[in-house]
Amino acid sequence: MMDMHCHIDLYPNPEEVIRQCVENNLYVLSVTTTPKAWAGTYALTKEAPRFNTALGLHPQLAHQREHELQLFDSLISETKYIGEIGLDGSRNYRSFLNAQLRVFRHILNKCQKTKSKVLSIHSRGAVSMVLDELEDHPGAGLPILHWFLGTKKEMSRAIDLGCMFSVGPAMTTSQKGKQILRWLPRESVLLETDGPFAILGNKQLRPVDSFLMIDYLIEEWELPENAAINLLRNNLKRVVVS
Ligand SMILES: [Zn+2]
Repeated sequence: MMDMHCHIDLYPNPEEVIRQCVENNLYVLSVTTTPKAWAGTYALTKEAPRFNTALGLHPQLAHQREHELQLFDSLISETKYIGEIGLDGSRNYRSFLNAQLRVFRHILNKCQKTKSKVLSIHSRGAVSMVLDELEDHPGAGLPILHWFLGTKKEMSRAIDLGCMFSVGPAMTTSQKGKQILRWLPRESVLLETDGPFAILGNKQLRPVDSFLMIDYLIEEWELPENAAINLLRNNLKRVVVS
């Protein structure tokens, strides 16, 4: 199956995590937090089938790494996948929103000029602002909102803007997360873990833990296992062109 948002390079033992993905035939979108990390992260999984490495500049680092946008521009033609990008309006980062907006807008502008990118987007505490930017940059690519925790109204607006949603096991630990999982239309759902940042119990999530999400969705959707898996596979086809 798939993990559409994980940080392979940030595991203490990436080789072991990658091997586990290959053994389980997982499709993995390996996102990066800075343009400087792209080449090394790409090299980690160059030989592994079913891995794509996304080029990103994380909103929580935007104020420190804005100067890496030049490197971002020089790498953008290397990959169809962009992320982790976005905006973070939570308490510790909202004071840097100006820098975040400059970085996000720069990236969306570049994506508009290239073709058919797929974007993995962080929107913590800033969902409406992220959607405003997507609306202002039509044709930037297919947006996947990762770990979305907005309102129902924001979700509808995101769907109207063509967004898909990657959801992970960590979302099942809060009422808000569970509510979102009930609301999301099935045909816009993809799986993620956001490992190693995301934690379940006291364990760092790994891409294979995305299987936990399949079990959860089978119950939530009241579908037979096969039907749920087929649906998710079809959703994956929309974002992965091999
Ligand atoms: Zn992430």
